[in-house]
Amino acid sequence: MSDGNFTYPCERVCPLGIDIAVFMEFVKNGAFGEAFGKIVLDNPFPAVVGRVCPAPCERECASANNGNPVPIRHLERFVGDHAYSHGLLLPAPENELEISVGIVGAGATGLSAAYFLRRMGIQTTIYDSMPRPGGTMAYLIPSFLLPRDVLFYEIMRLEKIGVRFEDRVCLGKDFSLAEIRGKHDAVLLAAGCSKTELPKIPGRKSAGVMTAADFLRKYHSAALDIKISGATESVVVGEDRWAIFAARLLRRLGAGVKIVIKNSAQSLPPQIRKVLADEQIEIIDSAAVTTIFSQGGKVVGLRCVKMSSTEGAFSSVPDSGFEIECDFVCFSARRQPDYSILGEAKDLLKFTPSGKLDVDSNFSTNIYGIFAAGEFVFGEMPVVYSMAQGKAAAISIAQFLDISPPAGMTRLAPFQYKSQNYTLSPAPQETILYRQIQSCVGDFGEIALGFDEATAVEQARRCACTKKE
Ligand code: SF4
Repeated sequence: MSDGNFTYPCERVCPLGIDIAVFMEFVKNGAFGEAFGKIVLDNPFPAVVGRVCPAPCERECASANNGNPVPIRHLERFVGDHAYSHGLLLPAPENELEISVGIVGAGATGLSAAYFLRRMGIQTTIYDSMPRPGGTMAYLIPSFLLPRDVLFYEIMRLEKIGVRFEDRVCLGKDFSLAEIRGKHDAVLLAAGCSKTELPKIPGRKSAGVMTAADFLRKYHSAALDIKISGATESVVVGEDRWAIFAARLLRRLGAGVKIVIKNSAQSLPPQIRKVLADEQIEIIDSAAVTTIFSQGGKVVGLRCVKMSSTEGAFSSVPDSGFEIECDFVCFSARRQPDYSILGEAKDLLKFTPSGKLDVDSNFSTNIYGIFAAGEFVFGEMPVVYSMAQGKAAAISIAQFLDISPPAGMTRLAPFQYKSQNYTLSPAPQETILYRQIQSCVGDFGEIALGFDEATAVEQARRCACTKKE
């Protein structure tokens, strides 16, 4: 925020502290480049965040506007898309310092931290095990929700301001924590949540069974060793966002998809029910999988049981077992940090009683000069909260290095780290256009269409807040 004043309710809840009313003022006047310049003071990825943020700002706006919020998130996307199509770049550092920070992990936290550190003139290098940067954004969120050209364009802009990337290098294999600490004045561990475990169901080791996150990661890194086609009958078990993403991706690959959920179908958000119906994904509700059947080591079916729920506690219904034939199964499973990458340093680092890496309020671990933030510390969280942590950690690291952040780069204490279900647009349907499709099979194009300039101005003018720079 420019002045640290969180004037409006929407601004008070934005994890990145975007000066919403000022950027809105620019959009109202058709000054889209200026709106971009304002947003990127707090958020280097407006086109990405404008597609994936759960938009708590709009919930505040809705309560002030009879349930009809200004589509802030979609306007942020519009500004990001405008910057993409007009080749606008991020602000370059005003000076260069001979101080360097090494960042482990090129996901939302690491990229965001690198941006804010670079803005202060600090040399930053991001080390990542994957071939391309982006973490969850590149490997788990499907391209029909987050087009890769948009993502990689916004990441490329970091390179333009001097962020260095080293890909295909893995902490714990290619270098140790001591080695990276020796190369830099400070280190940020931002390796995200790269581990999932299948539920302990008999038959889980059969070929064709994996977690939804593993399926998404393998598909997006071209490492899926199972062919999915129109002949595939698949089952997705669970209803978190990774399960929904996996089901929708499987449909696009041509597979028949059933989704097994413990709750009733009515308990799903209406937008999710609509998408599942539109994309011909069958819901089998109030059910749980008890056994995975295999033949020759490969999954061929599932045994399920009906579930009932009393005050949130589930129990199986006696004599309600049934079977589903299938040849591919994905289970939703909580993503967790993989601390094995810390190697010998794991014994030197402090962990909380619940097994999470222990950091203080400045994201500092107990080892001098080693910081950690984002999902690697707190577990799963939406992209925008990971980015907020990267920003806050960058400011803490700068202060550790005796560098004062520029005026206006304020550290918000992210107020909410817990996971949220944000699979679909929370903005009102009437302000967002969705591409009409007959069948999603084979169609990987983006579904939510962006605003044109006239609509963006018209929608921004619905915002009654006024704030000038
Ligand atoms: S959409 Fe998200 S990042 Fe954008 S202003 Fe709202 S809360 Fe902030």
